[in-house]
Amino acid sequence: MGPRPTIARAQGVGRVPSHLDENETGVIRTREKRLTRRGVLWLGQTCNIRCHFCYFLDRINDREHPEHAFMELEKAKEICHALRFRYGNTSVDIQGGEPTIWKHVCDLVAYCVEIGLQPTLITNAIALAKEHKVQELKAAGVRDLLISVQGLGDVYDEIVGLPGGSEKQMQAIDHCVAAGLPFRFNCVLSKKAIPQYADIARLAVAKGARVVNFLAFNPFEDQVRGGKRSIENVPRYSDVGDALNEALDILAEAGVEANVRYLPACMVAERHRKTIYNFQQLSYDPHEWDFDSWTWTGNQAQRMKWGATSAHHRSLAEQTYSFWIVYSQGTEAGTERSDAFVRAIPAMGGAIRSTLRTLRHGLGQLAPRRHLPKGDELGRSPEVYRDHAKMRAAQKCGYKFAPACAQCDARRICDGFHIDYAAMFGVEEAQPIAAGGRIDDPTHFIRDQEKIYEAEESDRFERQDPAARDAA
Ligand code: SF4
Repeated sequence: MGPRPTIARAQGVGRVPSHLDENETGVIRTREKRLTRRGVLWLGQTCNIRCHFCYFLDRINDREHPEHAFMELEKAKEICHALRFRYGNTSVDIQGGEPTIWKHVCDLVAYCVEIGLQPTLITNAIALAKEHKVQELKAAGVRDLLISVQGLGDVYDEIVGLPGGSEKQMQAIDHCVAAGLPFRFNCVLSKKAIPQYADIARLAVAKGARVVNFLAFNPFEDQVRGGKRSIENVPRYSDVGDALNEALDILAEAGVEANVRYLPACMVAERHRKTIYNFQQLSYDPHEWDFDSWTWTGNQAQRMKWGATSAHHRSLAEQTYSFWIVYSQGTEAGTERSDAFVRAIPAMGGAIRSTLRTLRHGLGQLAPRRHLPKGDELGRSPEVYRDHAKMRAAQKCGYKFAPACAQCDARRICDGFHIDYAAMFGVEEAQPIAAGGRIDDPTHFIRDQEKIYEAEESDRFERQDPAARDAA
């Protein structure tokens, strides 16, 4: 273990909650935002529980599915090596299925630490009810755990299909507290758990969770095929509002970072809009995934045991502008017509696509948006990341806007409603935001939110010249 890094306080650092002493943990809290350098790795869709809303449930239940089996250690190491040295990632979310039941997990954790890729496990923590497992992970060097707290008590047990599951999870959390192993919470905004959102927030405060993420209808493409979510288990956005606002108030009062993912900003109280992360905001959360490396690890070759890894794409810009050219640039409604255009582009001839791509990219170079942060130490352009976010929301997930969204000042930085959600509930819940002018900066709301950055990210803030930043 090397010496603890010296951490300068970044501008905008707020008070640090008692459970999160900067001097002890090396983390910093700041309102400044940087593009994330976190990658993601799927080891295989093998799991010890069955959450009814899991978007990988088909692969978890089907032992013959090519992504079901856990991969070998060497392949996982190869992927992590690429995350660190090709994409410049400094941290990684390791997930399964359930990574804590993979026999090589401690070896992979130790390897990640060795190459400077700080490892997080996304886990249900059931297996960590055995205290020695927590101690082994801590000894291997795991940075922290992102524990999926989908409910409490019997509600949790029912949601995940494991009698006694919540009790085991609570034991695991207590073992983490005892071992000094940091953890954060993920909580899917499911219908059954609505009465418990506030209690989950209280649990996070009581146990010292560093961050709590609430996840609305998860917008991944395979959900369309899975069909596990329905009006039986997915709540209307407007039905979660009051319970979510109460939970966010509890976390804010205690100084615990909270994030709400994939929920339109108009669905929470104005004071909590700074917690809303849709596709355009994801890249500014250090605990979310880098679109560039995610584009590669998301390919099936990197998610399955069998076969070699696939070739790397040339750049995120190439990936972005190959599929999508002018989606909603400057448009207000951005509804059916532009969706249709987006879908039509991949079917265009190569020459037309190439010309449009060159034109779009050239215009982007000539007229960068001045309000966006400048490129970072990896040479990454916030403009490209924003366009990629829009491409994912529109082209991959089919997000839709309501007619009322045309009157919303946040329209340009919002994704709208996931296509499956819209099919279930419609889009009439939209409540246009009046902000005194059209918002075109994806960090408009989140720039008021303090976030936790891990020790390895701290030099990104020390390097900032406040005078230059203020002048920019
Ligand atoms: S654009 Fe539509 S969905 Fe998004 S915040 Fe505004 S009203 Fe809500």
